[in-house]
Amino acid sequence: MTTHKTVRSVCPHDCPDACGMLVTLDGDRAVSVRGDRENPFTRGFLCHKVSRYPERVYHRDRLQFPMRRVGPKGSGQFERISWDSALAEIAERFKAIADGPHGPQAILPYSYCGTMGKIQSEGLDRRFFHRLGASLLDRTICATAGVAGYTATIGSRQGTDPEAFSQSKYIINWGSNTAVTNMHLWVRMVEARKYNGAKIVTIDPYRSQTAARSDWHLSPRPGTDAALALGLMHVIFRDQLADEDYLTQHCLGTEELRARVLTDYSPIRVARITGLSEADIERLALEYATTQPSAIRINYGLQRHAGGGMAVRTIACLPAIIGAWRHAAGGILLSTSASFPFQMSAVQRPDLIPLRTRTINMTQLAEALHGELPGPPVQALYVYNSNPAAIAPDQQRVLSGLLRDDLFTVVHEQFPTDTVDYADIVLPATTQLEHFDLHGSYGHQYVQVNVPAIAPLGEARCNTDVFRGLAKQLGFETELFDVSDEQLARDLLWESVSTTSPDQVPLALRGITLDRLKTEGAIKINVQQPHSVEAASKLTRSVSEGDPTHEFPTPSLTLRVSKPVVQQPVAPFANGGFPTPSGKCEFYCDRLAKQGIDPLPTFIPPAESPDSAPELAARFPLQLLTPPSPHFLNSTFVEVDSLRRSAVEPQLEISPNDAAHRGIQHGELVNIFNDRGSFTARAIVGETVRPGVVVSPSIWWNKHSLGNRNCNSTAPTRLTDLGGGATFFDNLVQVERLEPTRAS
Ligand code: SF4
Repeated sequence: MTTHKTVRSVCPHDCPDACGMLVTLDGDRAVSVRGDRENPFTRGFLCHKVSRYPERVYHRDRLQFPMRRVGPKGSGQFERISWDSALAEIAERFKAIADGPHGPQAILPYSYCGTMGKIQSEGLDRRFFHRLGASLLDRTICATAGVAGYTATIGSRQGTDPEAFSQSKYIINWGSNTAVTNMHLWVRMVEARKYNGAKIVTIDPYRSQTAARSDWHLSPRPGTDAALALGLMHVIFRDQLADEDYLTQHCLGTEELRARVLTDYSPIRVARITGLSEADIERLALEYATTQPSAIRINYGLQRHAGGGMAVRTIACLPAIIGAWRHAAGGILLSTSASFPFQMSAVQRPDLIPLRTRTINMTQLAEALHGELPGPPVQALYVYNSNPAAIAPDQQRVLSGLLRDDLFTVVHEQFPTDTVDYADIVLPATTQLEHFDLHGSYGHQYVQVNVPAIAPLGEARCNTDVFRGLAKQLGFETELFDVSDEQLARDLLWESVSTTSPDQVPLALRGITLDRLKTEGAIKINVQQPHSVEAASKLTRSVSEGDPTHEFPTPSLTLRVSKPVVQQPVAPFANGGFPTPSGKCEFYCDRLAKQGIDPLPTFIPPAESPDSAPELAARFPLQLLTPPSPHFLNSTFVEVDSLRRSAVEPQLEISPNDAAHRGIQHGELVNIFNDRGSFTARAIVGETVRPGVVVSPSIWWNKHSLGNRNCNSTAPTRLTDLGGGATFFDNLVQVERLEPTRAS
């Protein structure tokens, strides 16, 4: 007779929601996962990608044994070897490089958010590479531009509590496909509409599923969001809709900003820049300023342009201008990731980094692999939690770099990704069901722990185990690496500090312990000040009432919402107190001025657009956007057959005008190209994109794409104005019909 058991888990994928999951075991095998109804934010439902997780965990293609390359690089031909051989060979190669003329900085770790867990994503790996003296990696590929811009205005990433959105009256999704990529926040928005009469507006050049379900969709030209925000400010100041009292008390640089927008950003000029009508700009400004509380969800797409940092900085000024911060359900939300002051330095040990260690920006992997960046050549690449052969920009040059015979490449992975094909040594990785981890979130404010539900498949090992093994091979200090994952979690939670110096524990995490997380499940950080541990404990166990079931098995199905009972959210800046140097919301930012950057909000045009680069646009007239496919999460889940079937194949959405101009019919194969590269996709002709813009949902693996190339073949490695971020969406291309024209 088999026994069923349930284990509490957390979804680890690169998604703001960090869902609480329950894994059902039949004996020692996971047979299903479902949402944990006791998680107050995610309330018992998972997206369609993760609700079929056992299909992924037990997939026939799971890597289960270490392997050594036996064929040419890129061929994916390997032989099985033992862990002892694999670790010994890696250690030997690393030691030879570290002792060589270029030193350990010739070794480059490359990782991102293949898992979001603090321990398996950014724990002992950092400690190991710091101890080794390897090059540092600046992890810029997603969000650094927005963080830099937002912080320039607000002083930190702090913003509106996601749970407060259900009490808003006017909600703007700005560059955010919330219904698909942040669906538990979308539930709060739908609740606000149903129970609070809220209007939902989406600003996005693409008619995403969120745009289609919103009350109003505005479709500006890509990369013009800052101009739109400045135009809104013009109307708000001109028509005396600003909250002058809030501006006087809590903002810095109001008069300079007022003068700039009244002079430079009239609706007529902004309409020319954005492609929106003057009437729509006027109406949006009026509705936004006069309907309170109003909240903005700002997201990642609009950051991926040359001026992406300034765009986020500019939009982040809006709530202060209209006094939306006075309300808990007003303001703006970029990310909650900074809400969790885990003791990262205790785990990562930045004190071990040798002086003058260089940093490589991960967006410029192509340049790094071709020796075009300052410092030593990259002689070894250690990849984990990432798939750079598919996700990095300027893909053809990344692939030619990975082909270098003198490059030693290790890839620690769950599946035979495009990057695995270029590895010298492949190491099999555990999934979330097979290892321990501690989670914050970038879309809510709950801490969670993930305990292993099943034993590792085959010989798969988690990241921390591999770095412990490598450290031993290299003779690193036992006291640095002989530490359990649970102890790392306790260190992140400041547990040893809490017994000796409780006042040094950040308020947000006081009273949150590993033992409590294991027994109680998700615990909300302490957000009210001053706040006792006892009060925090009571607050964190408050669970929303009503029917918690939200069915969302596929992105296209409707959801059932329940009347929300929300903990009283906090209005973080109702009385000012911005964490900037001035303590005010900084329209004027002295820190930017000192870097030679415009200290006031401004519009920085895209590097590649018909207006800003007309000569380039004469050859490549279409602006390409590559947002996430609803069926994938970056390049994760492409390996799951049912999800790949749902996504069908690489597609290109193109307007009827642009298609007709090129003689392209719906369903035909097209070639998308520029000077950097090309890829092939099936044309979807329709009204989801405005003329001049094309959209290719991503990120397909190269090996599942015609021609073995995906959309990142065309993407630039140019960096954003602030934060050194990636500019994937600042990309001009041309599209042509392929012959033969029709596939079945
Ligand atoms: S919605 Fe996001 S966090 Fe939740 S299960 Fe899906 S991918 Fe994971």
